[in-house]
Amino acid sequence: MKRQFAVFGHPIGHSLSPHIHRLFAEQCGDALDYQRQDVGVADFADAVLSFFAAAGSGLNITVPHKEAAYRLAVVRSARAECARSVNTLWQDAQGRLHGDTTDGAGLCADLQRLGFLTASARVLLLGAGGAARAVVEPLLAAGIARLDLCNRTPQRAYDLVQDMRHLGTLRALPVEEIDSAYDLVINATAASLHGEVMALPPVALAPTTACYDMVYSAQTTPFLAACQAQGVQRCSDGLGMLVEQAAEAYALWWGRRPQTAAVLSAVRADLRAAL
Ligand code: NAP
Repeated sequence: MKRQFAVFGHPIGHSLSPHIHRLFAEQCGDALDYQRQDVGVADFADAVLSFFAAAGSGLNITVPHKEAAYRLAVVRSARAECARSVNTLWQDAQGRLHGDTTDGAGLCADLQRLGFLTASARVLLLGAGGAARAVVEPLLAAGIARLDLCNRTPQRAYDLVQDMRHLGTLRALPVEEIDSAYDLVINATAASLHGEVMALPPVALAPTTACYDMVYSAQTTPFLAACQAQGVQRCSDGLGMLVEQAAEAYALWWGRRPQTAAVLSAVRADLRAAL
């Protein structure tokens, strides 16, 4: 019998998660049914409880429900506690709802694949929303030298640093106070989704800087286009992060981690073909 999975979000129409999980299941020989469901904020808790009451096996949670999923989970992983965000839910044999976040592990796996994450790196993280919060701890745990945070609403960056400063060398600063180049700049803002860019002073980027946009697209994202216009050569969008965080969720549900390289190539080709 096929195990039932779904991704809940709002909007959800363009989610690639069903496609990615079906490719993983094919690779692993697992029987899976995976649907996407558009769930409004007011209906989220009921929709989750109904899904598991109907013998659902696991849920992925995306914008705007990750904090609500965190609050709903009864047993939360240490990384979910740290991020105050949950993107993967499942029930144990006692019917307790477990929540974990795989976004940080997904980002770090993709940065490792790209060779963007080095032990001595000075890293700039743009954004202070759920995605930024989820990646701070794994980035610091990867042994980087320093993590600086800038956000459109500066107070949110200061609040994030206040919550997480015990984890490592972390500071928030206004974007205009950046005075030297970074080894890695990660865009965890949703600006690219709106065709906008959080402008960086030229000093932030050197030709050797690597730039990563969590947003993914068939075309170069506005953030990466702006970085390239300033001479940056090593760029990547967030499709690899999406595939890696999905592989981590798959491992939580099935007890085995699928190979990601072929799935990333297939999803990239599909994205380009849809242009
Ligand atoms: P969120 O909690 O809603 O936070 C949004 C962040 O973007 C905030 O820091 C916000 O700044 C900033 N922002 C929004 N519009 C902006 C603009 N026009 N200019 C500058 N900053 C802007 O969202 P999230 O969950 O953190 O997600 C952030 C992005 O990461 C989304 O685009 C999401 O699709 C992407 N993501 C990708 C993956 C992946 O697997 N590739 C995984 C997770 C998230 P303020 O605080 O000032 O509002």
